[in-house]
Parts: sequence; C-alpha cells; structure tokens
Amino acid sequence: MTTTTTRTICPFCGVGCGMGLRVEDSRVIAVEPAPNHPVSHGQLCAKGWNAAFGVDPAQRLTQPYRREGEVFVPVDWEEALDDIAARLKDFRDNDGPDSLGVISCARATNEDNYAAQKFARVALRSPNIDHCARICHSPSVAGLAQTLGSGAMTNSLADVEQADLIVVWGADPTENHAIFGGRILKAKLNGAKLVVVDPRQSRLAKLADLHLPLTLGSNIALANGLLHLIFREGWEAKDFLSARVDNVEALKAHVAACTPELTARITGIDPDTLRRFADLYAHSPAAFLCYGMGITQFASGTSNVIALSNLVLACGQIGKPGAGINPLRGQNNVQGACDMGCLPNVYPGYQPVADAAVREKFAQAWGSPQPEKPGMTSLAMMHGARDGAMRAMIIAGEDPALTDPDQTEVARALKKLDLLVVLEMHLTETAKLADYILPVAAFAEKDGTFSNCERRVQRVRKAVEPPAECRTDWQIFGELARRMGVAGLDWQNAEAVFDEMCGLMPIFSAMTYGRLDEHQGLQWPCNTEHPEGSPILHQERFPLQASGRARLVCVDAVEPAEMPDAEYPLAFTTQRLHFHYGGGSMTRCAPVLERETPLGLLFMHPADAADLGLGQHSPVRVFSRRGEVDTRVELAPELPVGTVSMPYHFHEAPCNRLTNTAQDPVTKMPELKACAVRVEKREEA
Ligand code: SF4
Repeated sequence: MTTTTTRTICPFCGVGCGMGLRVEDSRVIAVEPAPNHPVSHGQLCAKGWNAAFGVDPAQRLTQPYRREGEVFVPVDWEEALDDIAARLKDFRDNDGPDSLGVISCARATNEDNYAAQKFARVALRSPNIDHCARICHSPSVAGLAQTLGSGAMTNSLADVEQADLIVVWGADPTENHAIFGGRILKAKLNGAKLVVVDPRQSRLAKLADLHLPLTLGSNIALANGLLHLIFREGWEAKDFLSARVDNVEALKAHVAACTPELTARITGIDPDTLRRFADLYAHSPAAFLCYGMGITQFASGTSNVIALSNLVLACGQIGKPGAGINPLRGQNNVQGACDMGCLPNVYPGYQPVADAAVREKFAQAWGSPQPEKPGMTSLAMMHGARDGAMRAMIIAGEDPALTDPDQTEVARALKKLDLLVVLEMHLTETAKLADYILPVAAFAEKDGTFSNCERRVQRVRKAVEPPAECRTDWQIFGELARRMGVAGLDWQNAEAVFDEMCGLMPIFSAMTYGRLDEHQGLQWPCNTEHPEGSPILHQERFPLQASGRARLVCVDAVEPAEMPDAEYPLAFTTQRLHFHYGGGSMTRCAPVLERETPLGLLFMHPADAADLGLGQHSPVRVFSRRGEVDTRVELAPELPVGTVSMPYHFHEAPCNRLTNTAQDPVTKMPELKACAVRVEKREEA
C-alpha cells in the first residue's frame, strides 16, 4: 500500500508548528513533525502528535441535519441550503440586516474567515461579524492599537532565543504553547534570565529566576508600580522616549503615586522583588515580554494590555531583536480570523469600518453598499438573541454554549433565535441547539492558509478528500450567497479567495500561494515595502500616527468586578490543560489525550481543601451567582490559598456556568479570569 505525506500546519494552537499528514488508503493514519520548519524545527507537542484523531471520519458529522422537534434528522444539502438562504433573505428584507449575524471560526482557514465576513457584509448586508478573539485577545488588538498602532505580536517566536531576559506575564506556555515553551527553556539554559508573573506557581514559574505571584487581577497596579520605580530611578530609555514616544511626562506624573508600598498592598508583591524586576527589565539589553489570557480576560483587559505596552515603551524594549510585546494567541488561526476582518469594527487588514473611504473601497470592490456603522460583538449578538432583536445567526466552528460566560443564559439566548445554523465537525454543545447543522471539512481536507501568532501566514494543504458530504466553510457561504442572489462569493478554489483578499489588504499585498511555499510562510506586513515579510515590527516607526511615534496611555488599576465575600468566599479563575484544546471537541477524540484528563477538575490548594474537609477527588458542587457545577477536587499546591481554578475543555463540568459577564468597556471582553465562588462537599448518589 502506498503511503503519502502532505505537509501542512498543526490545527491546534497559535504557535503554528509544521507537520506532515501520513495518508494510506485515502485516510490520515498518522502525523509526523515537519523537519526544518522555521517555527517548530521538527518538533510537535502531544496535541500535535494526536491531530489525526480529531479528523477521524468515524467520529464526525458527515451529512447535514435539520432539527425536527427535539431530534435531528438527515437532510440533503440542496434542501438545507435552499431553506436557509430563503429564510435569511426573508429576515434581511423584512426585519433588517441588523437582525442577522455571523460568528466565524478561529480554527478555520483565512479563506474560510474571509468568506464568512464577506457573506455577512455583502449577502446579509449586516455589520454583525465576530469570532472567539472576543473572548481571548480582542483587548490585545484594541490596547496595542492605541499605543503602538498595530495589535499583533511585535517580534517572532524565534526571538525568544535572542533575549537576555524573558518575561512571561499571565501565560503558561509550557502547558498551552508547548513548542514555544520549549524554546523558552532552551533560552534559559543558554543563559537568559526568566521572570514569570502569575498567581499560580506554574511549572515555568518553578524554574524562573523570579516569580511574582501577584493577586488575581492586579496587573495594572503591578505595571504602574514598576513604571513608578523605573521613572524614579531614572532607568527609563530616555533617548528612545524622546525620539519615538509621546506623552512621557503625563505617564510619569500618573504613576508618581504608585509607590512600592502601595503596589505591595494591592498586588502582594514585596518592594524588594518589585525593584529586582524593574532593574532587570530596564537594564537588560533585550527583554522579550509575552503574555496570555491572564492579561486579556478581565473587564480591564484593554487597560491591562496598555499597562504592559507602557512598560515596554518606557524601557525601549521594542523594535529590536529579542524584545517586544508579544501576545500568545490561543487558537491556530485566531490571528488570521482577526486579520481577515472577522471583527465588527474592521475590514480585512484592520481597515476601520468607521472610515468612510475604507467603506467605499470595499463597497466598490464587492459591488455592495456597506453598513455605515460597526456591528455587534458576539456577546452583544447573544444579548440581541435573548431580547428578540436577532432573528438568525450562523455560527461556524465555535462553541459559545460551552466557552462563553454564563452558559445558562447563552443557551437560553440561542434557543430563542428563529434560525440557528451551525457549521461543525462534531456535535458540540452549540450544535445541539441548532436548527441546521452543516458538516464541514477538517484542516486535513482542504487547502488554505493559517496565520500563527507571530503573523506568519502559512500554507495548509489538502491531504485527503472530505468524508461523505462535508464541505469547506467558504464553499458553504458561497452556496448560500448564490441562493440569495448575491454574486462575488463563487470562488473556484481556495487560492482564488486568497488572491482576492490580498488584493484588498495592504498588509498582505505581496503574498501569493507560490511565495508562501517558497518562504515557508511570510510574516505581515508583506508588501512592496517589505516583500520578504516583517519578522520584527516598529523598527523605525510606529503606524499609530503620521509622526511615526508611539503613545503612552495612562491607565488606573481596578479590581475584578466580583471579589470574594462572605457568601462566595473563594476567588475563581480558569485555565487550560496541556493535553486539551478549546472546547475539547477535537482533542477529546484522542484516547492518549483523554487518558491524561485528571479526575478532579476543581483545582484547589490543599489548605483550602482541608478547611472544607475535602481531599483529593472529593466530590464537590461549585456555586457562583450565575450557576453551579458538580465536579471533583484536584489538589493543587501551585495555586494561592483562597483561589480555585477550573479548565474549560470539559462539557461534563462546564466552568463557564460560573464565570462573570462583566465586560471590558472597550472590547466587551467578558471577565472570564476572575469571579467569586463557594464550594460545598457533595454526596454522591
Ligand atoms: Fe500544535 Fe501548538 Fe503543539 Fe505546536 S505547540 S504541536 S501548534 S498544539
């Protein structure tokens, strides 16, 4: 039997490792690491090695289904698409485009995401397009755009090996971005210093030169306290600030009151440790700062990102190798879904909806007048569904019924829609609520591109045909548009979608599939000015304003919206586990990964457990103001006393029944990282 290997990209996290899919008898039978890949250098983590299980046709939805009462019945594509298109057209024409919305998929290709937003803006004529960056890195896009002018990782993942100091703030890359985590460990072995800022003593924190176990949600206070010391001691990068940054005096005055003593009271970090960190960060020749959802998933998410950006700018740790501010994106193509304009306020390439010239450009290119105002975020669409303002939604490959905060409300809202269409590979919690489920092709079954977290656009290649009746997202959106009488989404192949988007996105304008193949991916901006791509941003100027200067922005420390009290005495946070990904729909198909799931999913310090008379694997019920969840205790000495944590991969113990919907005022990011809970021992039946 012939075995072929097709080179493609891992479908899990934003590191974007290269992999080969081994195919026998038209089936993916195994995965192997891609040698010489610029990011992964012939390595994969446990999730990557098990990627073949997630595309196994035996565990997939392979034909369309329609809800009839409480059951799903098979339906043929033509009938499903005709009915969906007719109903969408009816809602659009009679209830208005604002009653419709699309949530696109950060796991799907750039081509699928481009098609999703074009379908919303052209076929539905609706500005309501969003995706799961809303609940992971929308504050990175907004916060870095305010200070630097561009909301993406400034450096490359490889740069960590050129850093003298690595700062990991609110992230756990050895768990969640494992191949990048390995590079951090290699850099440390080669002499780089490592500082970890995390309430938990993560594995990486145990190996760090300095661990700052700050109080949950006190990131701004810590950054402002560091800035206070840096300005007070005169450690700021004076020449860099004077040449390239605005608003220095205002920030200096703003942090004048953030003394080490005050900072210690808010963050729990003693003044000596604070000083050691400030000294190291300000004086390292190159300091690489990366962060994750421990920064963004707060109601203060945008301000948290701005606070870190202020620190980076003040010390001139940007625009050079081994430095920068580097958000670690979660899903394989969440960077790409943002790049494609699957956000309610920007078109592809971050061109703002609010700019009339940009709207006119897209109206001309697409032959369709464009909505004048930015659309609703995904959470606003949920509120619209709950309140009856939304009639129909298409959700492609996302599982908000599991991953959004206050799940009971999300399910209630989705059930109130007149039409919910879900594009999915598996019967997720959201798919269970759909009127139609349309089966989609997996990453191994399609051509396209993913953008990893360092802005590298990489080729995804078809290794096998999709099973049975599965189709790509872009084909489904194209078919629906055609049935609605809308032209311009009838691409012949993925490359035609890519070429169209590159023609409209100045940051992609020098990319073609051929050039991506030649270079093993290209990092945007990739245009006439930077034809070979841009591994490091902001080396000479910031794209924030005509002067090319960045701007420091004053932000104040705020507490999480819900703090522990007498009724709910424990702080609650969420986390991810190395062996699983997202809502678990793909990784939980792999027996090896499933075997690694701990029995207890409520992580709790042994002292808290002892206070409540609990031990390892004790059955418990966790209550918040929004709901309750039954699970078991997993003793976790790495957590601070008084804080408990749950992962969100498991529908059996859905932690987002507990989480808070308090939102960041700028991005509407919900505060998934902090709320208050009560834990009670549970009798098992
Ligand atoms: Fe896949 Fe991320 Fe693991 Fe690389 S680190 S193999 S991209 S899950």
